Amino acid sequence: MRILVQKFGGTSVASPEVRELVLRKIEKAREQGFNPVIVVSAMGRQGAPYATDTLLSVARSVYKGIAARELDQIMYCGEMISAVVMAGTLQAAGMTSVMLTGGQAGITTDDNFTDARILKCDPTRILSLLKQGKVPVVCGFQGMTDEGEFTTLGRGGSDTTASALGAALNAEMIEIYTDVDGIMTADPRIVENAKILDCISYGEVCQLAHQGAKVIHPRAVEIAMQKNIPLVVKSTFSDAPGTLITNIAQEDTSEAAVVDRVATGVTYLTNIAQFKVHLDDTMGSDSSFNVFRTMAESDISVDLINVHPGQIMFTITAEHVEQASTKLKQQGYHIEILENCAKVSVVGGGMREVPGVMANFIEALSRNKIAILQTVDSHTSISALVPQSDVGAAVKSLHEKFGLSN
Ligand code: ADP
Ligand code: MG
Repeated sequence: MRILVQKFGGTSVASPEVRELVLRKIEKAREQGFNPVIVVSAMGRQGAPYATDTLLSVARSVYKGIAARELDQIMYCGEMISAVVMAGTLQAAGMTSVMLTGGQAGITTDDNFTDARILKCDPTRILSLLKQGKVPVVCGFQGMTDEGEFTTLGRGGSDTTASALGAALNAEMIEIYTDVDGIMTADPRIVENAKILDCISYGEVCQLAHQGAKVIHPRAVEIAMQKNIPLVVKSTFSDAPGTLITNIAQEDTSEAAVVDRVATGVTYLTNIAQFKVHLDDTMGSDSSFNVFRTMAESDISVDLINVHPGQIMFTITAEHVEQASTKLKQQGYHIEILENCAKVSVVGGGMREVPGVMANFIEALSRNKIAILQTVDSHTSISALVPQSDVGAAVKSLHEKFGLSN
């Protein structure tokens, strides 16, 4: 059996007109001899009646602090509605389609409500439907605990559903359909002349995704990579070939592999706060690691870490500022907090040992009078913390400087 997982994002299932386009993609897969497994997100973006954000606001309008478990129960409805509508669309076109919740599709998760992790994926039920020639339409973004509790997988979690099913079913390929023609060198909402990347390695796309490119969830890439299943990101709204994500070895010098690029893309993350913690001799030698232990115990992940004698700097997301500052102050630390920052990154496997990369990075930002609050670099990325108001200008100038606009 040739199994193809086709995942359709929120904008791809938002209206009857677009669902006709989805129907055509599914029909085409069947004509090509595939047994498609469909994964859908909730319909539309914020403001649409059954969009995830709309459902969240319904629950939060009752009580801002409503528990994560209850949030998951209401968010569950978004994908249920979407999957019913999509299964109905396929049935109307003469297919035998069966809608399944995440749990019914065999996805078991832990009980970390609103950000659950997939523990296992049992393909039995989907396989038996496929054998009967049926088209399963699975609710993305959700799973079920062993105790039967409904859970959701966090933002972008439908991508993860698609990959988990693809891996469990040994799919030939996983297609991620969205509203852009593929993975681009930058978010097209910021950089007008961003280019589509024809092919990219799992590693590079993971980096892009971790550094903020919201076009695909990094966990989805990791799962596909483990089983070496090709992922394709493409548009529901066009016939463009999209971006093929595979295991192109960095050393591979064949023409297909070498796109001879230092940088692959520019990404950004917003709503970041910079913490400066001052340490003095009276605090003892444990004071620096105690700062990080405190963050870890509060489940707050830290980024952009610099440890100097007498001072520690790190960043956290805006939602954790209050909690982090309270905890650290309770322990007697003197802290300075700079809010409304953004992290811009240039990502690329080709940056290794290329001289002048850092110089170009700094020059691009300085020429545009963008303050650099902190930097960090690795073999495959350089990032800077900048004021959030400059994030658009920073992304554009780096995109230009690293030759991605040509
Ligand atoms: P879906 O609902 O289909 O999952 P998303 O909103 O999650 O759609 O992802 C698609 C969006 O990701 C695009 O509309 C685009 O604005 C944004 N995006 C951010 N960075 C990139 C990038 N590097 N390449 C392509 N799209 C990007
Ligand atoms: Mg998405």
